[in-house]
Amino acid sequence: ALTIGIVGLPNVGKSTLFNALTKNAVLAANYPFATIEPNVGVVNLPDSRLDVLAEIFGSERILPAAVSFVDIAGIVRGASEGEGLGNKFLANIREADAIAQVIRAFSDEDVVHVDGAVNPAGDMETINTELILADLETLEKAQSRFEKEVKGKKLDPIVLTTAKAAREYLDTGKPLSSSGLDLEPIKDLGLLTSKPFIYVFNVDEAVLQDQAKLDELAALVAPAKAIFLDAKLESELIDLDPEDAAELLASTGQTESGLNQLARIGFDTLGLQTYLTAGPKESRAWTIPKGAKAPQAAGVIHTDFERGFIKAEVISFDDLVAAGSVAEARAKGKARMEGKDYVMADGDVVEFRFNV
Ligand code: GDP
Repeated sequence: ALTIGIVGLPNVGKSTLFNALTKNAVLAANYPFATIEPNVGVVNLPDSRLDVLAEIFGSERILPAAVSFVDIAGIVRGASEGEGLGNKFLANIREADAIAQVIRAFSDEDVVHVDGAVNPAGDMETINTELILADLETLEKAQSRFEKEVKGKKLDPIVLTTAKAAREYLDTGKPLSSSGLDLEPIKDLGLLTSKPFIYVFNVDEAVLQDQAKLDELAALVAPAKAIFLDAKLESELIDLDPEDAAELLASTGQTESGLNQLARIGFDTLGLQTYLTAGPKESRAWTIPKGAKAPQAAGVIHTDFERGFIKAEVISFDDLVAAGSVAEARAKGKARMEGKDYVMADGDVVEFRFNV
């Protein structure tokens, strides 16, 4: 499954947020290095279309898509050189498909800031520098290996030239994601700054309604996506029943919880979309990469479905809702038979035909 790694300086609210993400109790302690074990948490992708399908089909249950998050210990200045928690933790994010950087913007004198003051721009700089240094180290190590292998004709020279170009770019102090380089030949290195980034600002509740302040923070990370939440509020929301949670959320001027935003934007950042299946047992969202074709989508349900794929009966969600039932959608000519080259659209309601 695709995962998003959570990084940030110590004491910025990563554990608090992660607790809320998983509803699991991970120690949220007020001292650096409280979080030492990476954990995986899964958060559902909210999708109101599933409720509608469950209604139409009389489904017993609803199964939304989900996004996985890996909680990783705080990075401190010098992490890339083994100070603080060090490289072991950077290794954990190497496996992640995207990175969510949590940045402290809340003011609380009781919570120690590792660098002494709340400074979102400075904190981002610290983290990004550590990630760049970690990538440079990875590339430096890889390069001598690549050189030997290319000499011995065991490696495509494009790998070496790409690694060199990446190093040169990182030397300018910028993340690889903005380099425009084709990094495919060295993707196995898991270079951290080549991954998509989401910035999560942990702000005071009042700031959630202060558009000028939010715009100012968003400008720090543009064109990357920024999410604003109050981790403490999120952890309170998670313990309430849905009605009370909605009321509390509304009282802070929000229509969607931070966790929902994180799931939605994380999903998008990972380049994913969903298609839907529905029946009396369940209405369900299945995760596929954007641009996936029908057989690949079928393979998410079962590998046999992909191997034995014949065709897919596809009704777009809106057409199905307008028709009110599959039979009516068919009668109106809204059910399409699609073959193996069909590129799936978000919200397709699908039934696969296959040979076993
Ligand atoms: P981590 O080291 O990044 O995992 O940070 P924690 O989640 O352990 O949070 C450090 C401290 O800050 C804890 O005492 C939290 O209760 C507190 N904290 C986290 N988020 C917020 C927030 O949004 N507002 C306030 N006031 N305190 C927070």
